[in-house]
Amino acid sequence: MKRIIEVDPWKVVETSLHPEENRLAESLMSIGNGHMGMRGNFEETYTGETHEGTYIGGVYYPDKTRVGWWKNGYPEYFAKVLNAPNVTGIRVVVQNEELDLNTWNVMEFKRELDMRHGLLRRSFTAENGNGEHVQVNVTRFFSIAHPELVAIRYEVTPINFSGTISFQPFLNGDVRNEDANYDEDFWEPVHHEVSEQAGVLTMKTRKTEFEVSAAMRTAVEGADVTIQAMDDQEEYIDNVMDVAVTEGQPVTFYKYVAVTQSRDYDSAELADKAQGFVTEAFEKGFDQLLQEHQGAWEKRWKKADVTVGGDAEAQQGIRYNIFQLYNTYTGDDPRLNIGPKGFTGEKYGGSTYWDTEAYCLPFFLGTADPAIARNLLIYRYNHLDQARANARKLGLEGALYPMVTMNGEESHNEWEITFEEIHRNGAIAHAIWNYTNYTGDTAYLADYGFEVLAELSRFWASRVNYNPRKDRYMILGVTGPNEYENNVNNNWYTNRIAAWTLEYTLGVALFIERQHGARYYELLDRLGLSSSEFDQWKDIISKMYYPYDEDAGVFLQQDGFLDKEIMPVADLDEKHLPLNQNWSWDRILRSCFIKQADVLQGLYFLNHKFSKEEKKRNYNFYEPMTVHESSLSPCVHSILAAELGYEEKAYEMYVRTARLDLDNYNNDTEDGLHITSMAGSWLSIVHGFAGMRVVDGILHFNPMIPEEWKDYSFKINFRGHLLKITVNHDETLIEQEEGTPLQLVLNEETRTIEAPKVATP
Ligand code: BGC
Repeated sequence: MKRIIEVDPWKVVETSLHPEENRLAESLMSIGNGHMGMRGNFEETYTGETHEGTYIGGVYYPDKTRVGWWKNGYPEYFAKVLNAPNVTGIRVVVQNEELDLNTWNVMEFKRELDMRHGLLRRSFTAENGNGEHVQVNVTRFFSIAHPELVAIRYEVTPINFSGTISFQPFLNGDVRNEDANYDEDFWEPVHHEVSEQAGVLTMKTRKTEFEVSAAMRTAVEGADVTIQAMDDQEEYIDNVMDVAVTEGQPVTFYKYVAVTQSRDYDSAELADKAQGFVTEAFEKGFDQLLQEHQGAWEKRWKKADVTVGGDAEAQQGIRYNIFQLYNTYTGDDPRLNIGPKGFTGEKYGGSTYWDTEAYCLPFFLGTADPAIARNLLIYRYNHLDQARANARKLGLEGALYPMVTMNGEESHNEWEITFEEIHRNGAIAHAIWNYTNYTGDTAYLADYGFEVLAELSRFWASRVNYNPRKDRYMILGVTGPNEYENNVNNNWYTNRIAAWTLEYTLGVALFIERQHGARYYELLDRLGLSSSEFDQWKDIISKMYYPYDEDAGVFLQQDGFLDKEIMPVADLDEKHLPLNQNWSWDRILRSCFIKQADVLQGLYFLNHKFSKEEKKRNYNFYEPMTVHESSLSPCVHSILAAELGYEEKAYEMYVRTARLDLDNYNNDTEDGLHITSMAGSWLSIVHGFAGMRVVDGILHFNPMIPEEWKDYSFKINFRGHLLKITVNHDETLIEQEEGTPLQLVLNEETRTIEAPKVATP
């Protein structure tokens, strides 16, 4: 654990510059608006350790897969999330000395994320070699009211001199990915144009030909400006503006940028659109833009906030995670999704993993309008043809969704992941169940859901093989959620979720037949489904093989798991951890240690199908062998631990999830934040501590509260009701903020929650 920030309920504050940890701070201070975002880089030049990164939703590069021995079925490419043109840069030259916090003497420094208002602020006092002091205050935001817009206010006060400060705002398209194999340049210039206090730069990605235009406008307040020069190169434009400054008098510089891209607008009008948006922004001015942006954040927090009384670290953790999830995904564009690093880094090329369905979907279901979660499902529906083609490549029927994707095609090329981690199909089926079960929008099943489910089921039916000696169906050669085992036979989780998908699909078929008869026959016809296929699915369900150990009374993670040397992580010397940084892959694969919830993932997803005793035995067996080296792991353990009454464990795992990045638990936050696992901290509170479940359309709560907390509260948006749930050590209070009277079950007792009292005017 490494903490460089202060604990505060609404802020993430760094109170001194950490030159060696600057990359970590930059990741932590990332902001975005669901369409684009960037790391907490400085506007002015910084020659110290930094990873300059700006990312634009859906813009990627397909890097050709090159391997010595090509295996049939390999994806042709590996998708890289592209580092995009730098639009926030402002070189600042003070009396001919370029401001650079790496070489200047930094006397005071503060960088803070204001989560309530969605702002990144910085303030510092620094001195150059000639003893000239400046005091600087910077505020920037990526507007959530205008998704194309970035605005920066950069205020400088010359503390002990009068003279000249030169502001040199620029747009730079000459950027590289840190993870490029050969330092390639993935962008080429298209158009550039500069005028006094304005400019536009259009760049195009190689191969994919995404075009991105950035237009800037600038303004200075508090002093006279002289335009000295304008640089107008193919990939870089800037303005050089000298400002006459007077000792003690602040001067404020504004930079507005609008970024448009060819996925949203015609290439021919891209630059004009960007210029139009930036002109509108310029005319509104910083304060009004700020007000609109802050207002939108306030509205969002009204539904999404979670409070924790008596534990400032837990409070900061949950708000930080909610904040970063909304920086990454706003749900208004069904072509976008939630990348594991969002807009905060380059690792994990590709934007969509099973993380979305398994972890993020319930968060958006609970905190936002149902249309947002629905868009996440529609994203997969729109990729059904590519998933069919993916299955065909492997010689299989139905649809195999990619493990990692940008556009529906598989874009990850490790064979043990792309060919073998097929359990991801199960998460996609589970998400359809989750969405319809939570929202009651069963029409979705007839309109879209069934097509996806039927193709997923077909995939499973063609992927299993029948073993006549055991009279059982097997699934061989897979990787389960625990990626520290590859190419195993009969991973219990995979077999279970496969059979569940078949069961669920058959149930949905029956429902559509009864409720939407005409559509049912249309779907059967379109998909070429017959009763013999349904019979085959039923046979697989009844004869699926599940590895089980009678003595221990546990589901076996896979065939032969007990042949391993079984030992708890607690018996390992600390120096071996994390295993992925200290052990060879070979050693990891042979060990019993588990990267993330595997059998336990199944017990969480299919919670209602298992008794408490079964859950307890499996938890007690697997948790001690789990190293939680995937950020997705602690939350599932926290939720199950809460259900099983293991309060301390539930709390420990919650803290680890909620503060994973803030305290850099996995020692890799400098590469970017773990966005998808952030949803896990919300799940730990809502599904874990509060024990929320939806059974047959009825909300159930079974709350507990960690000893360390005074109280906690959260809101959920459920079928037109906005509920606030507050739990303290004596009671649980459920209030309705919007909606009609609602029946729910609290601690196994049915209650009616009255409609909100309308205040009399
Ligand atoms: C985990 C996967 C996850 C991926 C992206 C890996 O480390 O093992 O389950 O999908 O990260 O978050």
